[in-house]
Amino acid sequence: MPHAIFSEDWMDLREIGEFGLINRIRKWTPTSDPALLKGIGDDVAVIGTGAKVWLVTTDLLIEDIHFKLTWTDAFHLGQKALFVNLSDIAAMGGVPKYFLISLGVPENLSLSFLSSFYRGLKGVAKRFGVDLIGGDTSVSRKIIINICLMGEGKRGSLLFRSGARVGDDLFVSGTLGDAALGLRILQKNGLHAKPIGLTRKHHSPSPRIQLGQTLARHHWATAMIDVSDGLLIDTNHLLEESGVGARIWENRIPLSKLYQKWIHSFSKSPYQFALSGGEDYELLFTAPPEMRKRILHLALSLKIPITQIGKIVPRKEGLHLIRKDGKEYSPSRLGFDHFKKG
Ligand code: ADP
Ligand code: MG
Repeated sequence: MPHAIFSEDWMDLREIGEFGLINRIRKWTPTSDPALLKGIGDDVAVIGTGAKVWLVTTDLLIEDIHFKLTWTDAFHLGQKALFVNLSDIAAMGGVPKYFLISLGVPENLSLSFLSSFYRGLKGVAKRFGVDLIGGDTSVSRKIIINICLMGEGKRGSLLFRSGARVGDDLFVSGTLGDAALGLRILQKNGLHAKPIGLTRKHHSPSPRIQLGQTLARHHWATAMIDVSDGLLIDTNHLLEESGVGARIWENRIPLSKLYQKWIHSFSKSPYQFALSGGEDYELLFTAPPEMRKRILHLALSLKIPITQIGKIVPRKEGLHLIRKDGKEYSPSRLGFDHFKKG
């Protein structure tokens, strides 16, 4: 059959973006294996037929795309490669277990760089009780790091992106925007830039494993995602998978003291990095209003700030932000996309 004139084949990735591509891959590769409980579309894939299920996730870090050696050292890079995968397991409420690591490395990379990298990696693995079980190695022009992390979960006690219901509250852990602001400071002033409180959030985000597990185990939340690409973009993923909309109050978005002090040097808009900056690796989740008290108690007992920033509304209302003066707006750009710029 000749190609229909509305064929997409002439388009490129700048038009459809990273998430447009992932949606198409999802359509090109349908699966019908009953053991596959979640495939493409969530923070991790979920596989299993019994009460205990396997969780699998993978993430890629590429030199000069995700990091530059002028502002990242090998030790922190090793830590971060594992942190970002742990965060995806946290977002399901799972228990991380084993990982594989594949490396592409230039032939002139020093052994001391690699031993520092593995020291960083090993420290995080020990802290979170995960074991390295294999990987692959190749020569490459730039450093490429890919980790595939496996974890365990209980079938009835996992939190997907898809469970949010109209009327739920929308919560986020920690503070937002610090990692993106930290990155800007590192880019401007190099590896030893200050304040460390912000640059550290970029190099060493803390995956919220315990928080994720507690919310999932007690069924206090209805849906969850980790904030890796930015608050708006990740909220949008959760809304799309759940088939709902949301309202977010800008002035409820949790900002650290350091963020509030430094944001003015980098942006005229006080919320820009908190809304659209990535890599905070905090948890964004929804829960019915009757869970509010329990969630606030949990925040106190884990000593992790948890803030209600919005409400889930019907899908037709879309995603809206409410300014301090009560005016609502719909964000024109959600955040970072690898292929769509500007
Ligand atoms: P996260 O930010 O949580 O790591 P992503 O936005 O990277 O998630 O990915 C969203 C979903 O798309 C996940 O289920 C992921 O496994 C899947 N995915 C991403 N890239 C590809 C790809 N190239 N092929 C197949 N699935 C992919
Ligand atoms: Mg994720």
